[in-house]
Amino acid sequence: MFKLAVLFAVVAFFVLPLPGVVAATSPAPGVPQVASPAAPEKTAKKAAKTARPTKQKKAPKNGPVVLYHVNRRETMALRLRDARGRQVPGMQKRFDHFLRCHYTNVQHKIDPRLMRLIYQTGRHYPGRRIEVVSGYRHPTVAKNPHSPHSKGLACDFRVEGVKTADLRDYLRRTYEKVGVGYYPNSTFVHLDVRKDRSAFWIDYSGPGDRAMYSPTPDQDLRSGRADRYHPTKIDNAWTEDGSGTAPAPDGDAEQDKDQETP
Ligand SMILES: [Zn+2]
Repeated sequence: MFKLAVLFAVVAFFVLPLPGVVAATSPAPGVPQVASPAAPEKTAKKAAKTARPTKQKKAPKNGPVVLYHVNRRETMALRLRDARGRQVPGMQKRFDHFLRCHYTNVQHKIDPRLMRLIYQTGRHYPGRRIEVVSGYRHPTVAKNPHSPHSKGLACDFRVEGVKTADLRDYLRRTYEKVGVGYYPNSTFVHLDVRKDRSAFWIDYSGPGDRAMYSPTPDQDLRSGRADRYHPTKIDNAWTEDGSGTAPAPDGDAEQDKDQETP
């Protein structure tokens, strides 16, 4: 009987000592408690971790970004490096093919930096696919002969479930030497790579309309006008010269903005 009691006491000592230990290590009354609040927090975090181990899966290293071409309904998994950091062979060729002109099917070399930026953008929004509206455009369908689209330097796209205003801000604050075009009344953002400094423009036109460039794009963002302004539809034939809209500011903007076909 006595032995059993000792055994119980020993077991109790090893199994149930936690509250006692915590009490013993807490500071004496009057001593300022500086570090102790961290401990319960840690425990809570640990408990949360063990409670749902599968939900917050970390994105795999160098994992793929899913691209979807809305005008040709094609999907491509873009991955620049494998899990061990080795370059994925043939990806540039596949990307060139994926971004080929969707009017003429002509393929053109796409700038490797544009491919990297699109990949990086996809990685910034894990689990969301990139929806491409237009990549390369053959000169015969590009109204503007200087369009970066006709040189394989530009892509119009959106990120599934992300506001184009958020995508616009992400691209502008993250990348250098890029052109970013914002179309408040359309559903995509334009991105191009360039050698000199970055450019930004806003085109207020809606799908199928002529371009309506803002002369003061940065000011429009600050004032909120960029996301409030909706153009009134006026037939271009009614205006004197038939253009109906302001010219592109300093030639940065593309004049042959593409539209998504239904
Ligand atoms: Zn574009």
